[in-house]
Amino acid sequence: MGDGRVTLYRSGMAGILIIEDDVHVRGAVARALAGRGHDVITEATGMAGLEASIASDVDVVILDLGLPDVDGAEVLKMIRAVREIPIIVATARDDEREVVKLLDSGADDYVIKPFSAELLEARIRAVLRRGDRTDDPVQYAAGGLTVDLNSREAVLDAQLLDLTRREFDLLAYLIERAGNVVSKRELLANIWRQPYGGADKTVDVHLSWLRRKLGESAKEPRYLHTVRGVGIKLTAPES
Ligand code: CA
Repeated sequence: MGDGRVTLYRSGMAGILIIEDDVHVRGAVARALAGRGHDVITEATGMAGLEASIASDVDVVILDLGLPDVDGAEVLKMIRAVREIPIIVATARDDEREVVKLLDSGADDYVIKPFSAELLEARIRAVLRRGDRTDDPVQYAAGGLTVDLNSREAVLDAQLLDLTRREFDLLAYLIERAGNVVSKRELLANIWRQPYGGADKTVDVHLSWLRRKLGESAKEPRYLHTVRGVGIKLTAPES
């Protein structure tokens, strides 16, 4: 997933969403970053920014804290609830306690206003680098199941599985977090890039297809265990 994003970053460019109500600041920052070759989109309110952060495929969000409709700290939490994306907070509040609070609520970094385009770009590079570590493991295994993120191949008991793109993404996401319960909301946000509607069956449908390919069912799970009311957990079968 997100192949395009990695390519963008590796070529030195990033997709950047700026959420800022001040028309002058917004224009100046957007022009400066666009002038450096980045793809920039801007929004002037918290709600529009939240929607854009979900709907678009940007690599990083620059979030102003003083927004007219919703407090930036709330927008931060809302974006965090649906997407794992680097968020750099722009604040006029030069207050260490405030900054610590923001980092604790999920901001990846911050800049104090007024800031230069050079500083902001350096921060953007830093947060993207953190998310793009080349020493990250690319192969995961649980029991007889192996998933290779680079070749996008999944092997079960020495048999190559024939998975669709979504099935592979789903399996990869779960095996990366093996042993931990992952909510359907999180799966929908990270794999389908969609907010969770209560009646949504997308995840269930794909899970049942994936189960069939793994030779199991919800009633007789081996790898994919439903934790009722919470989500799904991948574990190796007890042998
Ligand atoms: Ca503002």
